[in-house]
Amino acid sequence: MKFATLASCFERLNVTSSRNDMTALLARLLAGASPDEIGIVCYFTLGAIAPGYSGLTPGIGERTAAAAIALAGSVDPAAVEAAARELGDYGDAAARLTVAPPEGSTGPLRVTDVHRGFMEIARASGPGSADRKTRVLAAMLAAATPPERRYLVRLATGEMRLGVGDMTLLDALAEAFLGSKAERPPLEHAYNISSDVGLVARTLQESGLAGVSAIPVTLHHPIRPMLTQRVSRISEIPERIGSRVIAVEEKYDGERVQAHKDGDDVTLFSRRLTDVTHQYPDIVRHIRRCVTADTAILDGEAVAFDHETGTYRPFQTLMRRRRKHRVREVAGEIPATYRVFDLLYVNGESYLRRSYPDRRARLEEVLSPDEKISPADRTLTGDLDGITEFYLACIERGLEGVVCKSCAEDSFYRAGAREWQWIKWKSDYGTELADTLDLVVVGANAGRGKRAGTYGSVLCAAYNHEEDIFQTVCGMGTGFTDADLADLPRRFAGVRVDRQPARVMVTPQAVPDFWFAPARVVEVLGLEITESPVHTCNWDPEWRRGLALRFPRFVRWRDEKSPEAATTTAEVAAMFRRRREG
Ligand code: ATP
Repeated sequence: MKFATLASCFERLNVTSSRNDMTALLARLLAGASPDEIGIVCYFTLGAIAPGYSGLTPGIGERTAAAAIALAGSVDPAAVEAAARELGDYGDAAARLTVAPPEGSTGPLRVTDVHRGFMEIARASGPGSADRKTRVLAAMLAAATPPERRYLVRLATGEMRLGVGDMTLLDALAEAFLGSKAERPPLEHAYNISSDVGLVARTLQESGLAGVSAIPVTLHHPIRPMLTQRVSRISEIPERIGSRVIAVEEKYDGERVQAHKDGDDVTLFSRRLTDVTHQYPDIVRHIRRCVTADTAILDGEAVAFDHETGTYRPFQTLMRRRRKHRVREVAGEIPATYRVFDLLYVNGESYLRRSYPDRRARLEEVLSPDEKISPADRTLTGDLDGITEFYLACIERGLEGVVCKSCAEDSFYRAGAREWQWIKWKSDYGTELADTLDLVVVGANAGRGKRAGTYGSVLCAAYNHEEDIFQTVCGMGTGFTDADLADLPRRFAGVRVDRQPARVMVTPQAVPDFWFAPARVVEVLGLEITESPVHTCNWDPEWRRGLALRFPRFVRWRDEKSPEAATTTAEVAAMFRRRREG
């Protein structure tokens, strides 16, 4: 496949206003890819060059992009920077450049050539690597047409802005190879356990559904984490969870960490499935020492525990480990403890389809705990009193709450799913709204007066999982510090687009001054959920009403969350219903 074919499809995706059209365009594109191209087409469409967990990214900053564009077009980097400032994007600046065809040109760029180029860029390291990256990118740019240059640069800088999500791509694969997007579930399952949409695509093309169903759990490839549901009254938990015996576990406020142990080789993945092994050398050591199975995949939370005072330190303390340098020193200052709450694989066997009691029992067999690694503390109960008692004891110990887990026979580990088998209950419930919402920023209004030069408010949306679109819930302008406000233009520079993204649904009253591709997630506190003609969350076409969050306040950015991990419109609807009923 020519890279120009891909670029022209991207150009059309950019001006598509419906998610269905987006899926149809992608399905046609994927159907035309060969076995060695289809995975690459998937990664490129998502703005990546490899599965996220591989950590392989071109890692090209604006300065290097400008240098490469300048080199390819024989112009001054300052002129490229000026064009990028004017157009708001280095990709557009590259497209505008006139480049003479290279001497001895070897014909059009192919998707596989571009991928090879980006892999070389991603793997370049050590002295002279910045220069090598510039030259490889410049060579590709020099051989490219204007639309191709736009996407080469956007891929290089990681700012694709197409707004295509994993589920859109899986729908397109189902449409291309299975006849309809209704056939997505088995593909989604394979994706949930492999976290590699390129692998799912290649397997589907080569060996059909049978091949996809046989994709195994693989060490060092993260499994998408199972998520928790919420309720607005603790008394709802026993009924919702639907099992006679309920396990009530301590809820830790740290970082979700999935650990893969393969002999002495240990890899740790974050909630967003990025490799965070280097952040936790101490946890790696203890996994090697204390997990007796040869191979295992554990799910748990890394927490900052102060052994001197016997208390847990807040999440923010742990986040200071998110660094490239001085990791060991900081690890000494902020000792981390790994509280393991699940076992997903052991000695070559997947445990995903085992019940929670079985998984927990096996976990206790293969983990000999010490002060740095231990199974989550818990109690087993059959009623509300048992839950409440354990919850109060947790709060007293400085924890943020509990996670209740079903012990039913079918309490499997549901990778990537948020179902009623795990329900959280936290200490901040009962004040204002029960729990904060994690919303996706899809636009902003220009700031006026004191906020001139930045954005005055941002437009926030919840994720509609069924339709794979984003529906707005509120505009938010409060809770920001002056520094947060000043930083908004930088934070959103890479995702600004010039029209309404296809997967975003708004009413005419909520149309913002600027649009953003759905990418950045923000945690928001609000007073209550009400019906509203302005917002499209759970939109009722007959009554022309959706749901809105009143008095939203900024809490913090959730950079570790993908837009599809945001609060869902179904969750917002459930919060609204329970408030009204309660
Ligand atoms: P979510 O992960 O549900 O989208 P979140 O990241 O905002 O939401 P919370 O809503 O506070 O986090 O709670 C869910 C998270 O709690 C899990 O993702 C996990 O990281 C953490 N957690 C802590 N203790 C446990 C436990 N015992 N069992 C499961 N998850 C736990």
